[in-house]
Amino acid sequence: MRIAFIGLGNMGAPMARNLIKAGHQLNLFDLNKAVLAELAELGGQISSSPRDAAQQSELVITMLPAAAHVRGVYLGEDGVLAGVRAGTPVVDCSTIDPQTAREVSAAAAKQGVDLADAPVSGGTGGAAAGTLTFMVGASDELFATLQPVLAQMGRNIVHCGAVGTGQIAKICNNLLLGISMIGVSEAMALGNALGIDTKVLAGIINSSTGRCWSSDTYNPWPGIIETAPASRGYTGGFGAELMLKDLGLATEAARQAHQPVILGAVAQQLYQAMSLRGDGGKDFSAIVEGYRKPE
Ligand code: NAD
Repeated sequence: MRIAFIGLGNMGAPMARNLIKAGHQLNLFDLNKAVLAELAELGGQISSSPRDAAQQSELVITMLPAAAHVRGVYLGEDGVLAGVRAGTPVVDCSTIDPQTAREVSAAAAKQGVDLADAPVSGGTGGAAAGTLTFMVGASDELFATLQPVLAQMGRNIVHCGAVGTGQIAKICNNLLLGISMIGVSEAMALGNALGIDTKVLAGIINSSTGRCWSSDTYNPWPGIIETAPASRGYTGGFGAELMLKDLGLATEAARQAHQPVILGAVAQQLYQAMSLRGDGGKDFSAIVEGYRKPE
């Protein structure tokens, strides 16, 4: 299949590589020329604009940083909607607010184009391994069309409901993740300060009612989980700046819905303070450093 892939950053590039590996022909566009050259060597075709990429494609995929980029790439003069043919399926995998996803989808619908939102979880490791989870907001028909292609980049392809619901699922999950990481950090740091071996404490939590992904898979205390960023100086993983972005999306969506997110707002402020200290590039589990005396 000829696929336009726009936005080839930390996530988009490995996703595009998996599609090339699966035998698709890719029309590539990004502002970063270096990544275009690298993917062209694998057989991708470089396009001059989102419009150019979309023009001759049977499917369009975008993976961009934030809502402003999505608006620009779809609605701009040289954007996807200026080039895409009516009836072409389109899917945006960026993490953005549900409102923008619905607005861009409505603009696409006006010219006979069905657009889905399909944000992902699984990080850059999952993108490279082709094991991402896609949370898809789409009509039944569009979901059925997209499912086999998304399955070449991911393991779990979940139909969440109509357009926008993929983003809702993603921001609610990350709201909870941001909060639970802070909870585990507080408990681990308190146990340490009171004098229990942190490995024993983690073992108790992970076989008791406090257990969660932040404690048993991604524990923020160094040396508990070998494969977690905490055991390699909080490098790699999911940057605090990205968590901050997702908590911003959740609190803004909550404001629009007149829905309280009390712990989410506190969590947002804690990651904001972490960013101000210059630690926004560290994995988000480094939030635990705010609870420890520097060594
Ligand atoms: P990134 O910043 O590494 O990549 C974004 C790419 O988009 C860059 O290559 C940039 O040049 C390109 N771009 C920006 N504006 C453009 C434009 N107008 N036209 C064409 N290309 C443009 O970001 P990423 O880490 O790949 O994340 C992409 C999305 O996935 C974000 O919404 C992020 O929140 C989400 N996400 C990221 C992760 C992660 O672990 N990195 C995990 C899950 C979801």
